[in-house]
Amino acid sequence: MTETEKLVRDNIRKLIPYSCARDEYDGGEGIFLDANENPFGHLNRYPDPYHRKLREAVSRLKGLPVENIFTGNGSDEIIDLCYRIFCNPGSDKALIFHPTYGMYEVSAAVNEIEVIKVSLDENFNLNISAVEPYFKDVKLKLIFICSPNNPTGNSMNSNDIEFIIRNFKGIVIIDEAYIEFSGHPSFSLKIMQYPNLVVMQTFSKALGLAAARIGIAFAGQEIINYLFRLKPPYNISTINQAAALKKLDEISESRDQVKKIIEERNGLVKSLAKLKVVEKIYRSDANFLLVRVMDADHIYNMLLEKGIIVRNRSMMINNCLRITVGTANENRRMISELEKITL
Ligand SMILES: *Cc1c(COP(=O)(O)O)cnc(C)c1O
Repeated sequence: MTETEKLVRDNIRKLIPYSCARDEYDGGEGIFLDANENPFGHLNRYPDPYHRKLREAVSRLKGLPVENIFTGNGSDEIIDLCYRIFCNPGSDKALIFHPTYGMYEVSAAVNEIEVIKVSLDENFNLNISAVEPYFKDVKLKLIFICSPNNPTGNSMNSNDIEFIIRNFKGIVIIDEAYIEFSGHPSFSLKIMQYPNLVVMQTFSKALGLAAARIGIAFAGQEIINYLFRLKPPYNISTINQAAALKKLDEISESRDQVKKIIEERNGLVKSLAKLKVVEKIYRSDANFLLVRVMDADHIYNMLLEKGIIVRNRSMMINNCLRITVGTANENRRMISELEKITL
């Protein structure tokens, strides 16, 4: 048994996956009388459970083999699948760096997994000396690293990330939902080197396809195979697979949008810096800004009254709002409302 397989829950290792009709026969043309579908109409057939066309397109784009690519119903499904592959409910643990994306904790709770929360340091960087003692804990199976991090916006130091991957014997999941806005290389290039590494990306942010719910995992073939064995057979609809393929066909449009969003982000930093109510704008590698203001609750409500909705993160980080970068017009309107607020 490989080191990775030893980390897999016993019941999952023994699992005989559901074999759907399209598993038993996936040849091209034919008279399909095997899946109890309605023979009439359009969208009457089940989707490809292996998302082959989509994964081949992702493979061409990223320069990684199809066998190392999994596509799921959003990154959120991939997070849940990782818990179910590696963590025994009621006994195993996961570690997250606080403050970060809320789904790691919610998904842990659903799966009855204890979460160890290690605080990021004062600049929201990884705190290696604080996490290192946990490497010995044999119940600790997953470490989540979000880079660029939500809601702080910064990328984590790549040497720190690599230190964790090398020294932790469990699975390290790097969530790169915002990587396209950062200019940093993806850790997906290192999956061949580290069998305990899972890198997640998504169609929801830079690719502008949040409605279609498509997440990507890059990992060694063993982990990819377990993700496929565990997932519901038809987890991504034909419509959504087609929408994602179309997005990749028109990737230059998304790239232009990313450039525009980054320009707008830089413009927003300048406009926000001039406002009295703004105390600090954190450096962002993402499509949002974390901004510390004088009275987050008040400002949040004032904006809301004007129909401008930002995220109030002050429960997580004192007096901080998370502001997504919108269109030039949307950003201008938000700034002009903020200019009117006096405390
Ligand atoms: C938005 C976001 C995602 C995307 O999740 P999907 O389920 O793919 O839409 C993943 N991780 C983080 C940190 C995010 O902020």
